[in-house]
Amino acid sequence: MLAVICTTLFSSYKQENPLYKDAKQPIEKRIDDLLARMTLQEKVMQLNQYTLGRNDNANNMADPVKGIPAEIGSLIYFGSDADLRNQVQKKAMEQSRLGIPIIFGYDVIHGFRTIYPISLGQACSWNPALVEKACGVAAQEARMSGIDWTFSPMIDVARDGRWGRVAEGYGEDTYTNAVFTVASVKGYQGKDLSSDKNVAACLKHYVGYGASEAGRDYVYSEISSQTLWDTYMLPYEEGVKAGAVTLMSSFNDISGVPGSANHYTLTEVLKKRWKHDGFVVSDWGSIEQLRPQGVAANKKEAALKAFTAGVEMDMMNRSYDSHLGELVTEGKVSKELLDDAVKRVLRVKFRLGLFDRPYTPATTEKQRFYRPESLKIAEQLAEESIVLLKNKDKALPVNNVSKIAVIGPMAKNQSHLLGSWAAQGKAEDITSIYDAIQAEYKGKAEVSFAAGCDFDGNDKKDFEEAKNIASKADVILLFLGEKKSWSGENASRSTIALPQIQEELMVELKKLGKPIVLVLSSGRPLELNRLEPLSDAILTMWQPGTSGGKAIAKVLSGRVNPSGKLAMTFPFSTGQIPIYYNHRQSARPNQGKYQDIQSTPLYEFAHGLSYTTFQYGDLKVSATKLKKGEKLSVEIPVTNSGEREGVETVHWFIQDPVSTISRPVKELKYFEKQLLKKGETKVFKFAVDLKRDLSFVNGDGKRFLETGDYNIIVKNKKIKIEIVD
Ligand code: BGC
Repeated sequence: MLAVICTTLFSSYKQENPLYKDAKQPIEKRIDDLLARMTLQEKVMQLNQYTLGRNDNANNMADPVKGIPAEIGSLIYFGSDADLRNQVQKKAMEQSRLGIPIIFGYDVIHGFRTIYPISLGQACSWNPALVEKACGVAAQEARMSGIDWTFSPMIDVARDGRWGRVAEGYGEDTYTNAVFTVASVKGYQGKDLSSDKNVAACLKHYVGYGASEAGRDYVYSEISSQTLWDTYMLPYEEGVKAGAVTLMSSFNDISGVPGSANHYTLTEVLKKRWKHDGFVVSDWGSIEQLRPQGVAANKKEAALKAFTAGVEMDMMNRSYDSHLGELVTEGKVSKELLDDAVKRVLRVKFRLGLFDRPYTPATTEKQRFYRPESLKIAEQLAEESIVLLKNKDKALPVNNVSKIAVIGPMAKNQSHLLGSWAAQGKAEDITSIYDAIQAEYKGKAEVSFAAGCDFDGNDKKDFEEAKNIASKADVILLFLGEKKSWSGENASRSTIALPQIQEELMVELKKLGKPIVLVLSSGRPLELNRLEPLSDAILTMWQPGTSGGKAIAKVLSGRVNPSGKLAMTFPFSTGQIPIYYNHRQSARPNQGKYQDIQSTPLYEFAHGLSYTTFQYGDLKVSATKLKKGEKLSVEIPVTNSGEREGVETVHWFIQDPVSTISRPVKELKYFEKQLLKKGETKVFKFAVDLKRDLSFVNGDGKRFLETGDYNIIVKNKKIKIEIVD
């Protein structure tokens, strides 16, 4: 009798306290226990993501989904506090049979409420440690507001400025993207994903989306298998190594096989070779889009293709919830594959601590947003992202003047400084450029303002007012640029020049014979060949976020010495696109030029000036002849030869002039940023790993290191080494 009572009690205890709910048990055991209890329908529901709240993203407009099932796997959350999240989570915890928490995702791309510069600007800082901190703040603000998972970083190498999404990535170079991928993953996920200040990262868009033909969005992309590995895969590989728990499959196709139905990239490489044990979410609609892409006849076939390729979660396609159960019952999708997918999703939820702490504690906005240390990081990152492109006769910094004319449509606009994907950023919280300049020059110079014109259109009626103000000033600070909606998703432009009205305003101002400092804010590199000759100095501040106004004011006055360098080439004209520094070698290097324009870009990758000057000494190598497997170190002394302290980034390139396959003219392999006092010399060092840095990949990602000559390049200095058998 006693035994019967004990067994009954024990089994009801087990019912109420199942192993998967026991925080002390290892995660894998908890997953297995839970999986064993789940029905087919419950499993399928874990693999779907709907929205919670209204999606105002112009490309993916969606009304709030009504009647969200308690068993749903994930929701995209558009709230800025946790209230609604907690209500819906309560339903999942209390009304679903097994009480599986929902994972709430959102696009936290360059900040949540405190907005940082767009990623392209962040890369120009060459300061991954700072970017890591910024992503840490974004994670903290997001998690405390009810978000567990960000759809970031976007790490698509992109070389066509017409594509609006260049704003979202870290520029044209593979290695640069890889370095910032690692920084952002570390920043978002921290050391402990379950802490209440970290979020799960999502590497996107896997893979090759940056190759979109002619910069048009959602279109075909032709990528050879060698180029896939050479150019696009490294950031993902490094991101996976850094621990990113999720990836998003892309809209584009890779030579005919869509990223969201690509068994090779999703399963063979990601899951089998790289051993990724988290999950892949589709992009918004990218499963359903397999139909218009021409590889699936209907939604059911699209679901089958995406799922068997390796996409575990369906973002707003409504194709897994409609068809996956049926596909399993029909034997078209194996139970093992379904279980593996569910385990991956559950694993991420367990790692986030959602089973043990499903609710977000209530906090005030003051506790979550704009903390002093968060704003400090925003300001520093905005400062370090600014690139000084030109500074004729030391036109900058601007001091010892009594009258400054601030002109241009960007000068008083707060909203466009936020850039695209600005999450819960608020324009009204931004100090405008004009206000920041006024504060910066208070008591030193009189600052006047006229917009002069709008961002586009033909209305020139305000030209006169601008000319009038400018004619009375000692210097004209001209703020031109792009609206935030001109870059980002589905925001391609046929030309990267500014609209004619903005160029005409500058032409008119030039007639006054005053020095003109051109300051640009944009989500992409711009075509400047007509504006460059009219400018005494040019700065680009990208879309700098919350603290951009203050940052640019400090650079203009010289309180901050600019140190940014370009992570993406500024072409001379749109017709040169694609133009990027690491193109492969050509058959006739001195021929094949354009007849009508220069063939070189206006500003090259890694270009960026300072208010001081740096002299580079000679390169020294530890050995000139090495065997494979030996160690090599290279160094170069750099002296601050100017009048003030400054920060310099040294970029280390390698070149393989003769190889089995034609290699790029040069490739970035390392960079380092250091502060140098006036007159100071510092030695910059690069520890070369022969296999990692001098090899090339084949079409299946296998690395080859060949014997022969290689060059190591820093600026215009070059040193040769030889690898022997
Ligand atoms: C974009 C993704 C984004 C998703 C969710 C898609 O249209 O391509 O980058 O994460 O929407 O908003």
